[in-house]
Amino acid sequence: MPAARARRRARRSHAPVARQTAGVAGDRSDDSVSVSSRELVVLGTASQVPTRTRNHNGFVLRLDGELVLFDPGEGTQRQMTLAGVSAARLSFICITHFHGDHCLGLPGVLQRRWLDAPVRPIGLAYPATGEDVLDHLRRASLVDRSDEHLLIRHPVHGEGPVTEVGSFRLTAAPLDHTVPAVGYRLDEADRSHVLPDRLAALGVAGPLVGRLQREGVVVAGGRRVTLDEVSEVRPGLRIAFIMDTRPCEAAERLAEGVDVLVCEATFVSADADLADAYGHMTAAQAARLAATSGARLLVLGHFSSRYPDPRVLAEDAATAFGDVIVAHDLQHIALPRPQRGATLR
Ligand SMILES: [Zn+2]
Repeated sequence: MPAARARRRARRSHAPVARQTAGVAGDRSDDSVSVSSRELVVLGTASQVPTRTRNHNGFVLRLDGELVLFDPGEGTQRQMTLAGVSAARLSFICITHFHGDHCLGLPGVLQRRWLDAPVRPIGLAYPATGEDVLDHLRRASLVDRSDEHLLIRHPVHGEGPVTEVGSFRLTAAPLDHTVPAVGYRLDEADRSHVLPDRLAALGVAGPLVGRLQREGVVVAGGRRVTLDEVSEVRPGLRIAFIMDTRPCEAAERLAEGVDVLVCEATFVSADADLADAYGHMTAAQAARLAATSGARLLVLGHFSSRYPDPRVLAEDAATAFGDVIVAHDLQHIALPRPQRGATLR
């Protein structure tokens, strides 16, 4: 083969894998370091074993000032650096279960955290049955143990609320994996916003605006104006994070009506028997979960190394749901605005 042709072929075979999306506008995601105030940062998309193109599992939700890390698999500290995620600014960590692809990065992330932000506490939610594994991970290397009080533990004992993370309520529910595993959901409270054009139309200006917000009613231009007339309720964001599990009702409850569902898709339908045997979902099952729960956007991750081409996962998911992103490492996905008129659970 001529050298030039061989070089071209080599370049093609090592070309980065194209982003695989189905029915999603291209401006939703971006591989560069994003400055979006609300986004999902994909740190890793491999299940079980990392590959040349996929790091172990890991995701970060950037929610204004809060950074929530989910399932730091091996190599997460390095992926955070590549993705522009600061360990010092992490607010909270959620671990779904203690298989290595979901937790082996925790010691490195925490040690980096104490290095960069030595006095700032950080919360950690995890299945309560994994307390001993968590203790091992905390003792994985020789570090100053005086930082233990900065790790605020939130063991999950069953379905229900866990804690507040910024303006979000964190809830969890046990899923159906081969070991105790939980899924998570973050709900932001609805907020009332004053609309400047309505204020102007009704002649409410200057000090009257503050008084209207404090007292709920003012008189402007000889007319009584209430706060409800000049404001609207904006629904809060709702996100579910469902990793290793077979399809189950708890996953449906967690995903009910969310704006974004981040879900595992370890296998495709042709390997559904393997998915069931190892306590996982296929891309089509994840898509059916999104469809039945009324999710608006589905982000898939946690892929078996048997599918180096993400198109097979996208095609499997497309059989049941339209708005799907088959995530790839170091992808930044802008979170959609919560849908107006939606109601909280
Ligand atoms: Zn896993």
